[in-house]
This record gives sequence, structure tokens and C-alpha cells, in this order.
Amino acid sequence: MPELPEVEVTRRGIAPHLVGRVISSATVRNGRLRWPIPDAVHLLAGRKIRAVARRGKYLLLDCGDGHLVLHLGMSGSLRLVAEATPPGKHDHFDLGIGGKLLRLRDPRRFGAVLWTTEPPAEHRLIRHLGIEPLSRAFDGARLHALTRGHRAAIKQFLMDGRRIVGVGNIYASESLFLAAIHPRTRSGRLSALRSARLARAIKTTLRAAIRAGGSSLRDFVGSDGAPGYFQRRAWVYGREGQECRRCGTRIRRLVQGQRATFFCPGCQR
Ligand SMILES: [Zn+2]
Repeated sequence: MPELPEVEVTRRGIAPHLVGRVISSATVRNGRLRWPIPDAVHLLAGRKIRAVARRGKYLLLDCGDGHLVLHLGMSGSLRLVAEATPPGKHDHFDLGIGGKLLRLRDPRRFGAVLWTTEPPAEHRLIRHLGIEPLSRAFDGARLHALTRGHRAAIKQFLMDGRRIVGVGNIYASESLFLAAIHPRTRSGRLSALRSARLARAIKTTLRAAIRAGGSSLRDFVGSDGAPGYFQRRAWVYGREGQECRRCGTRIRRLVQGQRATFFCPGCQR
């Protein structure tokens, strides 16, 4: 499933080909995504894209008088292909721009293509989203303040998109390892010092994933395969029973909120 780093790498990959260019066409082959693609997208031709922003896992194409809101869902990918490229079975939406097509492929159709004329921050899908972990506003003090009074385990707190967006299962496990915090630690009991360490670890983990994905940026243009979703060499994620790369203790797995958590009982207290 595309996580925040994949979406950010997508944004960086497509933005240079979109910004400042005029949309020439919009083609809907199958509009039955998570929500129906609105008819309004057929009126996009002639609009200039001013910016490609991201909020959580939503991509926001600023068209001046409104925003095209894109989400990759469970299996979606966006790429730029030549105009003559024949669509595959799962290529449900194309945006013609600058002599190319921005093509959405989404086999499971949990993605979204929506149009809004209200400020994106007020959109019903976006207004409840938590803080951006890579923003300057997110730091140890903010994380400490956010967790006060919360009894939930820190792993589950990190994955709650209403508090912090985009820290998916892999990144939550990896960040807690880097910060040497046990995933079952009660959020509200995290000290200021450990909050600072955790906020830094989250940024480090997400940035490293974005960097790893950045090396596959060229894949966003001209190729027709699936983009290289990247998984970095993990410290703990998916490594149950293997030795910790730091201390040699066997990595353990537990289930929290129906999601697998991986941690090192030697390093994480
Ligand atoms: Zn360890």
C-alpha cells in the first residue's frame, strides 16, 4: 500500500512535469473508484496547474479555481506516459498535460479522483487529518503535548491519522526502534525527552524512505510498469526471530489493534 513516502516521491516525480502547464484533456475509463469520479473533471481542460501539494496521502493539484484531489488507495500509482500509450486494464483515469498523460493505475480501485472548489484544508477528507510529521511544527514538544492524557499504546497513537498523518505500520515500528521505545508504552506517559527522540526518529525514518524512493524517480516517466515502491533494509519490521542489528537479541512480534508490531526487547524499553 502506498504510504506517505511513496506519495511524497510521487509528488516530487510528477510535479516538474505538471506545474505551469495547461491540462488538455481528462479521460475517465472507469469512474467507480472509492468514490465516483465526479463529472466536473471533464471541465478541467484549459486550466493551468499552479502547484502540486500533498496533505497526508492526498495529492492536491492546484488548478487556480479548485483542486484536483488524488489518492492512491491500496494499490494505486501515478505515472507519466506518452500520449499514444495504450491503457491497460487497470488504467482508470488520464489527465492530458504537456503532451503527456498523467495516468492513474489502480487495480483494487480504492483510490480517489475528486474535485473541490473549497480550500483543501476544509475538504471533508482532509480537515480531520493530524499534523504532518515532516513539518517544522512537528517536534518533540508538539508530540509530547499531543500525547498528554492518552492511554493508548504509543504504536497505535502514532498510527492514528487524526493525530499524526502518514506514519504507517512499517514506519511506526521502525521509528520506535530508533527511539528505543517499547511499542506498548502508554502514550500519555512518554517523557519530554523520549518524545523528542521519537519525533526525530519519525522524521529520520520517513526521510530515509523518501530518499530511497527518490532514486527510482525516473520510473515515474515513460515507463509502464508499477513504480518501485521501496522498502528499506528494516531494523525490526518483518524480522521476527532474527537477531537485532544493534544488540543481537531476537526480534519479537506482537499484535496491536490487529496490526503486527515488531520490536527488539533488548533495545526498546
Ligand atoms: Zn536490540
